[in-house]
Order: sequence, then C-alpha cells, then structure tokens
Amino acid sequence: MVPQARDTDILILGAGGAGLFAALHAHQAAMRAASPLSITVAVKGLLGKCGCTRMVQGGYNVALAKEDSVERHFMDTIEGGKWLPDQELAWKLVTLAIERIHELENELGCFFDRNPDGTVHQKAFAGQTFDRTVHKGDLTGIEIMNRLAEQVWARRIQRLEEHRAVELVKSADGASIAGVLFIDMRTGDYLFVRAKAVLLATGGGPTMYRYHTPSGDKSCDGLAMALRAGLALRDMEMVQFHPTGLLAGTHTRMTGTVLEEGLRGSGGYLLGGDKQRFMPNYDPKAERATRDFVSRAMFSEIRKGNITPHGGLYISMAHLGPERVRKEFKGMVERCADCGFDLAGGLVEVVPTAHYMMGGVEFAADCTTSLPGLFVAGEDSGGVHGANRLGGNGVANSTVFGAVAGDSMAAWVQKHGRLASPAEFDIAAYERPFGLPRGDVEAIREKLYETMWERVGIIRDAAGLKRALGELDALDGELDRTGIGTQSRAFNLSWHDWLNLKSLVSVSRVIAQSALAREDSRGAHYRDDFPDTSALGTSAFTSIKAAGPVTMKPVAFTRVRPGQSLLKHAA
Ligand SMILES: Cc1cc2nc3c(=O)[nH]c(=O)nc-3n(C[C@H](O)[C@H](O)[C@H](O)COP(=O)(O)OP(=O)(O)OC[C@H]3O[C@@H](n4cnc5c(N)ncnc54)[C@H](O)[C@@H]3O)c2cc1C
Repeated sequence: MVPQARDTDILILGAGGAGLFAALHAHQAAMRAASPLSITVAVKGLLGKCGCTRMVQGGYNVALAKEDSVERHFMDTIEGGKWLPDQELAWKLVTLAIERIHELENELGCFFDRNPDGTVHQKAFAGQTFDRTVHKGDLTGIEIMNRLAEQVWARRIQRLEEHRAVELVKSADGASIAGVLFIDMRTGDYLFVRAKAVLLATGGGPTMYRYHTPSGDKSCDGLAMALRAGLALRDMEMVQFHPTGLLAGTHTRMTGTVLEEGLRGSGGYLLGGDKQRFMPNYDPKAERATRDFVSRAMFSEIRKGNITPHGGLYISMAHLGPERVRKEFKGMVERCADCGFDLAGGLVEVVPTAHYMMGGVEFAADCTTSLPGLFVAGEDSGGVHGANRLGGNGVANSTVFGAVAGDSMAAWVQKHGRLASPAEFDIAAYERPFGLPRGDVEAIREKLYETMWERVGIIRDAAGLKRALGELDALDGELDRTGIGTQSRAFNLSWHDWLNLKSLVSVSRVIAQSALAREDSRGAHYRDDFPDTSALGTSAFTSIKAAGPVTMKPVAFTRVRPGQSLLKHAA
C-alpha cells in the first residue's frame, strides 16, 4: 500500500492544550513576520473533543495574587518534584503561566471564576503553600479547550482529524526530521506528511494501569515513536497516581476517572472500609499531603484489607455542608450521582488511579529536542515536574510550553526550514495484525494491567520489577503473534487497540527499567526495598533510549540548591 503524501511547514501532533497553543502561537508569529506558514494539526480524535486538557477539572496554577509570587510557585514546584525538576524549565513554567492565563482570559475569551471584588478566584490544591489554582467551577478544561478550538477553527490552520501518527520519519541523511507517517482512521489508508518542523504533543497517558484517568485516545504513542526514533526519555519511573479515582465496579468505564483534587484541598476526608479517617496516621498534612503520599497511604490501607465493597476506600465531604459541596463541586456531584453515589451528603468509593507521567522526551527550554526539527511540549515532555507534578501544574505546563513551541517552530522554520527527502519507511509493522490468526487482544490488555498495577505501580521492588520486565517481553511477543481477525480498515477499533497496546508495552518497558535503576524512593516512585530518599544534593535523573541501559544524569541546580530557598523570609 503506497501512502499518499502532502507537505506542510509546521506539523503538530496532538490537539490538547499544548498542540492548540502551539498552532495559535506559530500562526501569530508567522503573521507578525508577515511570512505566512502552512500549519497542520493532526489528531487521533476530533479537534477540541479529545485528549486530557478537555478533562481538566481542578484548574490552572499561576501566581496572580499580590501575596503570592513566582518564586513561591517555583519553590513549591521544585520541592514537590523532590529536587529532580530541571530548574530552567520549572522557572519558565511559573513565569510564563502568568502570560498564558492573561492570554486565555483576555485574548481567547475564557471565563474563570471570580471573587466578589472582581479578582480571579484561586482555590486550594494539595501540596502548595498558596491557594493559586485558577478555575471555572470544576470543569476548567472544557472552558479552555472550547475557546482554543474556536480560535484554531477561525484561522487558516489545516486539520487532519482522526489521523493517528505512527512513525516519526527522519531525513534520508538522518540529520533531521522529514515528516510523519499517519493512518487515516476513517479509511485505514496511510498518509505521509512532509514537514519542516514537527511538534510532538500527543500527551503521554499512563493507560497501561488497571485504574487510570486519561482519555481513551491516549496510549503513549508519542513516547513510543520518540523511542523508535532514538530519542532519550527522562524520569520515566515517575508515574503519578491520583488518590481519588472513582470506583464504581467493573461494568463501567467511569471506574478510574478522577474526582478532583479540590475535594481534598477544601477539606474532604478519606475513610477506610471501617469508615474511620486514616490519613492522619500517615502524614501530618493528612488529606492535603501531596498525591504520592496520599496514594501510597491508600494503597497500604487497601493491602491491609480495610476496604469498601468494591475493594477501595471512601471519600467523605458531608461534614463541609452538602449545600456548599453541591455549589462548589457541581460537576463532581453529578458524576458521582450518575454512578449511584451521593458526594454531597454520603460516601463515595475511591481508589488511587494512574493519572500523569512526569517523564517524557528530554528537551530544552525552547522545546527543541536532540533531533533537529522535532519539538516537544506538554505531557510528552519530561523534566518540568521531576518526581511529582503539583495538581494545577499540568495544564499550565501544556499551555506554557505549547506556546513556546509554536514561537520556536515558527522562528526555526523561517531560519533553517527545508522540506527534506525522507529516509525509507515501512508500513509492515502496522499491517502485521491483518496477517495473523485471530487472537485475544483484550486478554493481552488485562495481563498488561495486572503486570503494571501489581509490580510497576504505587509500591515497587527489584524482584517485582524484574518479573514485570520478563512479562512485558512475553506480552510483546504475544502481540506479535496475535491477529485481529478482520480485514476491514475503516474505523477498525481492533486494529487501533492492537497498535495502542504496542505503544503501551514499549513505554511500560522503559517505565519498569527506569524504576529498577532508581534505587531510592522519592516523589511518585516508591521502592519497598529502598524506602529512603537518597541525598538531595547529588540528585540525578534517569535517562533511557529504546535500546540502551538507563543512565543517571546529575540535576543541575541552576537557581537554588537543596536546603536553600528563593523566598526572602526562608532560610
Ligand atoms: C481527568 C483529568 C483531570 C485533570 N485535571 C487537571 C487539573 O485540574 N489541572 C491540571 O493542571 N492538570 C490536570 N490534568 C492533567 C492535564 O490534563 C494534562 O497535563 C494536560 O492537559 C496535557 O496536555 P497535552 O496537550 O500534553 O495533552 P492532551 O490534552 O491529552 O492532548 C493530547 C492530544 O494528542 C492526541 N494524540 C494522542 N496520540 C496521538 C497520535 N498517535 N496521533 C495523533 N494525535 C494523537 C490526542 O488525541 C489529543 O488530542 C488532568 C488530567 C486528567 C486526565
């Protein structure tokens, strides 16, 4: 099958906060330079309707209040990240978040909640020393994505919807990116798009865990493609579990979806199966401790058997007053009611759920990567959050670095851009399941869930991780022998499930390898056999390529060292 071909100057993979901000900024930069660029956004789902930015509930961290400061936001990010974040990336995050939130409000038309005096309302999120989370009720992402999508639709930006990127294709001389190979999911045809600059913004997504929050279109495709293209990923052992995934039984896909952080931030209690609070026994900050502590405490409590009918724990909000809960958390109250729970006045069953990957492609503060012409932004990138992401820093990350990437790509194309002839590429790997006898793809998914949840999840050890690596190799082999039992290509979900699993298994391997290499516990990564955090002053992050071993690279403390602070009153 010969792929069709087309050309564009800038090709953006993914249409979440990172991808759409990149498109708008690249477009704006080109207009400013009075040299229009052709910009194409390609996305696995429908533009504006897929990905996780749309699912953002809680909100957006930004230092707006006069009592707050970028230094405080920065210190919260570094300390929350257990001194692993790249400090230049974190600084860019906290400083440019202010510009982006003003752009979202004043140029793109987002309405965020306000105080009676007209200032923007900022609410509490766990793990932060200041209430700095800007929001629109508890459905902030819908507001942001609707406005971003409208603005993209209003401009001459090309769209390739329901197009799945499968391979980053280098130039024939291997010196740069040449373009991207896609499957048009509507027809099953292949399309090769040649581009001068490509942005990877497919949003990671730890959907290899039994309980997970991200949208179903996310299967780590971008990270898997980056590995195949020879790029290094960092911090891959750092997978964040959100403490409060809804647990409504196996019959519903609502299980695993997140109940937002603001519930704990505003004073919600977690209860065991015995209906008693347990968090004060684990951490002085109790339910307002960071996600890693709370998830681990919950996992321990579940292992002790202090569980609810579905095998999880409870969240209780009723002591805050049902009226207040209904008003402040309308979306969450409705979501729980849909599953038969009364969030405002009763108890809701919850379980920790895989939420976010702090790890991703190594990149510089201008969003360039080690492959010239390839840029990265959002959840596909690694290094901004280190060992833990603060709630509210995720959408700030994707919008801040999406905008940076758009500006950088426009400048790069105008200076260096050329359409390169591509190296040879082969569609055989993607065609494989059509030529094999029909097997059980669902059973492979279940086994992947089991391996990742039990052995590469919230509590890990060397024996479990080694066993997991063996199991992942076996699963990859099993996939390579498993066909989908159909030849039809249009909207063939079995084919895409097979491809999703291929990406997930390859990224699961680097998570397990990185987790095995990090012989300490910090942030989201907890090793039962190495429960202590090693010296912060000599912190190093993991870096791994597809073929290679994990290397430990020292963190550069470019702005502040462990034990110091940028805050004037602090030591
Ligand atoms: C339920 C939930 C609640 C959250 N709440 C908050 C919050 O309150 N505050 C916060 O800061 N963060 C929150 N987050 C995290 C936040 O959503 C992410 O950090 C951020 O939105 C990621 O943006 P992104 O642009 O990188 O990826 P996404 O918004 O996920 O977009 C990824 C895009 O890539 C596309 N894609 C995927 N694979 C391919 C492929 N192979 N080819 C082409 N396109 C592809 C997808 O279809 C999608 O359009 C939440 C996440 C979830 C899941």
